[in-house]
Amino acid sequence: MSAQSEPSFRDSVELMYSRAVKLIDLPPGLEEKIRVCNATYTVRFGVRLRGQVHTFTGYRAVHSEHMEPVKGGIRFAMAVHQDEVEALAALMTFKCALVETPFGGSKGGLRIDPNEWEEHELEQITRRFAYELAKRDLIHPSQNVPAPDMGTGEREMAWIADQYARMNTTDINSRACVTGKPINAGGIQGRTEATGRGVEYALQEFFRYPEDMAKAGLEGTLKGKRIIVQGLGNVGYHAAKFLSEEDGSIITAIIERDGAIHNEDGIDVEDLRAWIGDHGGVSGYPKGTYVADGSAALEYDCDILIPAALEGVINLSNAKNIKAPLIIEAANGPVTAGADEILRKKGCVIIPDLYANAGGVTVSYFEWVKNLSHIRFGRMEKRQEEAQHRALIEELERLSADKGLGWELSADFKDNYMRGAGELELVRSGLDDTMRTAYQAMRKVWHERDDVEDLRMAAYLVSIDRIAASYRAKGL
Ligand code: NAD
Repeated sequence: MSAQSEPSFRDSVELMYSRAVKLIDLPPGLEEKIRVCNATYTVRFGVRLRGQVHTFTGYRAVHSEHMEPVKGGIRFAMAVHQDEVEALAALMTFKCALVETPFGGSKGGLRIDPNEWEEHELEQITRRFAYELAKRDLIHPSQNVPAPDMGTGEREMAWIADQYARMNTTDINSRACVTGKPINAGGIQGRTEATGRGVEYALQEFFRYPEDMAKAGLEGTLKGKRIIVQGLGNVGYHAAKFLSEEDGSIITAIIERDGAIHNEDGIDVEDLRAWIGDHGGVSGYPKGTYVADGSAALEYDCDILIPAALEGVINLSNAKNIKAPLIIEAANGPVTAGADEILRKKGCVIIPDLYANAGGVTVSYFEWVKNLSHIRFGRMEKRQEEAQHRALIEELERLSADKGLGWELSADFKDNYMRGAGELELVRSGLDDTMRTAYQAMRKVWHERDDVEDLRMAAYLVSIDRIAASYRAKGL
């Protein structure tokens, strides 16, 4: 690729796919079938607000239906357009295959600035958008299941679920029409944190392999590693919070819309988040240096860079200046195809988006299964597990007393060991296992094949292989 031309987001995803399919032997025509976006629905609808009709434009792209339902978030942002949702839908196809969630890929978007509207207005707009999609089965428990993305969260998902239920009053599985809902509307524990939590689990798994760390020139553990995060929204906030509070990493810079805060001693993520909540941005935050040009902070020295805001932020204009030896793509498409090439040549290791932010769809899968089974995870087993563990501890204590062994189990150990797993523990365990297993599948290809130089290609190869197998099983 020429160093001058920056491809669009969709072209970037296609270029990465093209690089990967060259390394795979697919039956004739299947390469093209997997590449193309099956369908994109564009809707323009009017909502009467503030005394006049406002027209909104929304999209739902279905990239691949090799498995159904198809799955993918709904984004609310002014930058939403057809190419973007199609690129994001393609990434969903590859992501779902990589983490073995039984879905095809989809994505939706509404061109709107959510900050311009009052809550009750946003509800009207969201419900109308949901109505338009649901009446064409583009929201449906067995056809197409949206989730939150940039600019949307559990509140919007609850409105969508309710709108679908109003339109399908006898559908007993109506709650499975969308994931990322609040708990009281059929959500699951641990969904809100899931994508950020998945980023943490992905890094923990990476740091279990000294040879992988060595490729990035890193060693040791996550403790003390200096991390820069871009975007303190759902994904960036949870990733930064868990990495700093639980893994001992130091968040040295946080980049937001209005600039960045830099502090080599570490930023208190909760404190900065509260400041943003009160002041609308990072500007004026007293416990660090404010940098008005936030994107400059992407180029600061650090061990790990976590772009968790939007696509295309690491591109031909700044790639050569990026100092991080390890980038984990918490956002979708933060590194353009051109930047990817520059960074690879520099020896930077990139943990790719289709793996790194798959925690969201993984826990969405658990939520969908919970909705279809109409029972929360752990409800049947929790007390039985506790009873079994209690019996073992009592037996050990009895033996110790009988034989005069003097064994004493600490109260903490007993508490921990006896507690049966509730929904949150099970969700985290399922997510951790998913992130580990997918990483292992990727790294196997990365290390075993001489023609695979990076984790992104390894991720694509694992995914494309699985998607091709499903198409073959369907007789295509
Ligand atoms: P969000 O809306 O909760 O947060 C985005 C954050 O980025 C906000 O704090 C916003 O102020 C900030 N931001 C926006 N433009 C910025 C800029 N130019 N510079 C710096 N900061 C900027 O969105 P989210 O759900 O956290 O999604 C972030 C990314 O993660 C997106 O690429 C999304 O597709 C991806 N993702 C999200 C999920 C999920 O479960 N929410 C799952 C997978 C992938």
